[in-house]
Amino acid sequence: MDMPKHTPAAKPVATSAITPAAKPAAKPAVALIVVDVQRDFMTGGALAVPLAGENLPAPERILPRVNALMAGGGYARVVLTQDFHPAGHCSFASTLGVPPYAKGKTAAGREQVAWPEHCVAGTAGAEFHPGLYARYADAIIRKGVHPDCDSYSGFADDGGAQTGLAGYLRNAGITDVDVAGIATDFCVKATALHARANGFATRVLLDACAGVAAASIDAAIAELRAAGVAVVVD
Ligand SMILES: [Zn+2]
Repeated sequence: MDMPKHTPAAKPVATSAITPAAKPAAKPAVALIVVDVQRDFMTGGALAVPLAGENLPAPERILPRVNALMAGGGYARVVLTQDFHPAGHCSFASTLGVPPYAKGKTAAGREQVAWPEHCVAGTAGAEFHPGLYARYADAIIRKGVHPDCDSYSGFADDGGAQTGLAGYLRNAGITDVDVAGIATDFCVKATALHARANGFATRVLLDACAGVAAASIDAAIAELRAAGVAVVVD
């Protein structure tokens, strides 16, 4: 049969069978938030957390995992939060006038767990743990800087003051957030809940977290999942 010379070469598949290639789903822009990996929360610190990973002792055990995530996790942004209190901060037992770990009331009338003095700005305890690959961080968010407000969350303090983290992430095009660090049952939980509330798809990477107590870690996991946060062991 005669074929005009300009006829395009036959295709191996009938045109009707060809559907446009599905565009690969846009890879979500994911940020890693590493919460409060500071000397005072590690072994020997003023407020050392006892549990890491699968309830293993010593928070230092999370460092290799956290470092691997920071250095090689492929995150679009890596953010460190840093608990950073002025002397006489409202979360300190010495300020509240109650024993450590009891509940007190701040001057503003908020119920507050009384913590040993920790992460005082300018002291060694407020520094990042020397084993943390802090140089891989794109941003450092200090929290709890107001004397009358505590801030478990890296996004906003108990008085509602924003740290700027949500805006920073949005400006960077971030849609998804992974959260690791210390403590699972306090600042990791609060940061992840606020990440979710700010509209970020949020995961807590449990094997890269250390917490205070098994019961409150379990309660935190339940609360996070109820709020739509994925709690995973990666
Ligand atoms: Zn604190």
